[in-house]
Amino acid sequence: MKKRVAILGSTGSIGTQALEVISANADSFEVEVLTAQSNADLLIKQAVEFKPNVVVIGLESEYDKVHSALDPFDVKVYCGQKALSAVVENENIDIVLTALVGYAGLLPTISAIKAGKTIALANKETLVVAGDLITKLAIEHKVNILPVDSEHSAIFQCLSGEYINPIEKIILTASGGPFRGKKKEDLLKVTKKEALKHPNWDMGAKITIDSASLMNKGLEVIEAKWLFGVETNQIEVIVHPQSIIHSLVQFEDGSIKAQLGLPDMKLPIQYALGYPHRLPSDFQRFDFLNYPNLTFEKPDLETFQNLNLAFEALKRGGNAPCILNAANEIAVEAFLQDRIGFLNMSDLILDCLQKATFIKNPTLDDLINTNEHTRNIAKELI
Ligand code: NAD
Ligand code: MG
Repeated sequence: MKKRVAILGSTGSIGTQALEVISANADSFEVEVLTAQSNADLLIKQAVEFKPNVVVIGLESEYDKVHSALDPFDVKVYCGQKALSAVVENENIDIVLTALVGYAGLLPTISAIKAGKTIALANKETLVVAGDLITKLAIEHKVNILPVDSEHSAIFQCLSGEYINPIEKIILTASGGPFRGKKKEDLLKVTKKEALKHPNWDMGAKITIDSASLMNKGLEVIEAKWLFGVETNQIEVIVHPQSIIHSLVQFEDGSIKAQLGLPDMKLPIQYALGYPHRLPSDFQRFDFLNYPNLTFEKPDLETFQNLNLAFEALKRGGNAPCILNAANEIAVEAFLQDRIGFLNMSDLILDCLQKATFIKNPTLDDLINTNEHTRNIAKELI
């Protein structure tokens, strides 16, 4: 039986690589749903090639174009944000890959969990915004959340066969991004062009900026807490510029397990889609002799404040990570529009954490309101 896959955000970096994985494993998967926000041309091309039953285009103004192009192919076309939450409930879907970016992933993920679909989670922002609620909902609906993020996939792979053994510590590796080694004064005038040049990974714009500012690692710390049920003080971050060790788990006997490989997101995508099977691949193999020096450094928390802010938000709990995420989304957007400088992003997030209303035990509605409210505060501050 082929696994039937819905890909939310099929035109992005993760989405297109997921389709490469599916193409190469056509006996194992078929595509049920594809969705995109604005890239109608690529969505149409993907739909013609992969023949899903349903596509969703986020931007309503692109609906007519997509609809008329796919009319001859018997593909249902919907548009708008609400359609995302509706289409993932379809009984023909086995697994939903959340490859869309930002807060927009939250409601469709909830809807997929309630419909009992396995989640292959790339959209880390969902767990940052509502980790407590999402993990409880997944338990209630007996749904597996399989990580796609390379660090979390590494941890998940290290935990295989260790179900009865408590984790002592999780060690998340970070490449350090394009500005590793730089100090605050060097970062005052960096441009978006420089920030968008990641040394090891080719990704969407938002996560690439997050990687340059170390917010990505902060979001991943929060993601790890919820995926693996550990306390904040059990998560450590270490800079590993070569991005070969994707992360590590230390157990109570002191033993450390790591997962290694060349930096290629197709591997964690394929592991999540194929889970529990490791499907064969022709991905380039790692050769130790090409990497005689794997190195490690302490993260520079003085220069890259975002990682601290994320740890603080996680310790504070409640809606603080939701505030952090919303402020960061506005900050990154403003930086990409040349409206604020690189270091202003952390100032803005700190301001929002201080100004937005704190809620200790937020409901889903509280989180939806917190997101709205924080975005407004951030926009006013800019
Ligand atoms: P991307 O910007 O390349 O692609 C985003 C996709 O989501 C596109 O298909 C776009 O059409 C869609 N989208 C954008 N805004 C949307 C909205 N408001 N509503 C619905 N759909 C929308 O992003 P990406 O780099 O592929 O990242 C996707 C997610 O995966 C992010 O949460 C990111 O943190 C995570 N992730 C990415 C990588 C990577 O290598 N790219 C690695 C780890 C985790
Ligand atoms: Mg990652």
